[in-house]
Amino acid sequence: MSALFVANWKMNMLRAEAAEFVRCFLQQYKPSDKVLGSEVWIAPSYTAISEVASALKNNPEILVGAQNAHWESKGAHTGEISVEMLKDIGAKFAILGHSERRQFYGEDSRKVALRANACAGKGLYAIVCVGETKDEFSAGQSNVVVQKQLAESLDSFSKQLANFLVVAYEPVWAIGTGLAATSKQAGQMHTMIRQQLIEQFGVSGREIRILYGGSTKPENIAELLEQEDIDGALVGGASLSPDTFWSMISSASGVTRIHT
Ligand code: PEP
Repeated sequence: MSALFVANWKMNMLRAEAAEFVRCFLQQYKPSDKVLGSEVWIAPSYTAISEVASALKNNPEILVGAQNAHWESKGAHTGEISVEMLKDIGAKFAILGHSERRQFYGEDSRKVALRANACAGKGLYAIVCVGETKDEFSAGQSNVVVQKQLAESLDSFSKQLANFLVVAYEPVWAIGTGLAATSKQAGQMHTMIRQQLIEQFGVSGREIRILYGGSTKPENIAELLEQEDIDGALVGGASLSPDTFWSMISSASGVTRIHT
């Protein structure tokens, strides 16, 4: 299985900056280079999705997506955006339940489940994020918290749509702090998540990609990806520079992926 790298640009980059990023990134990226063996997805802010989609028109293997999506198609939902609207501008996936939304914007797992079901049902890949806070980690609650978030966020998710699901484990204490989980910590959590996915989705649960997110960088990515159930990374800060993002992807190219 190839590693999946998803750039989460958060609330960064005007359209011209986003287009410049793609121009620089493509100078280094060669999809024909089999050594690479990685997949790349990019989630700009809503305003730059079209720009990035059109800059990537000759590279359809790089998907463009959004950082959220509403479950209704249209209506009185000021400030929200529908799956139909996202597809209309070229989005192919959405990041859902990111910890910044859970912490600061009242997002809960019930809403994440509605969003995830809507995305997958309408043909957008859903990246469902889960992860414990620092206090929960210190209290030894990580497993319980993540299991609960995952179960609630995937409530009623159709088994038939499991191929539209990606899970991201992002310990909140590791996001943007420079302090990544160790490969052992992350690996154990991913294996627990894998078991839960197999319980819910049967054999399809083995194929669902589980990304690690939280202070990944070129220096630590290879070790993380060596873990059996770490299938890629959701990358924040290190995805804002085309050189650093590229360097992460190429550092991972030598990693033997155990999970096939
Ligand atoms: C993120 O916010 O999804 C993330 C992983 O951020 P960073 O890589 O900056 O820790």
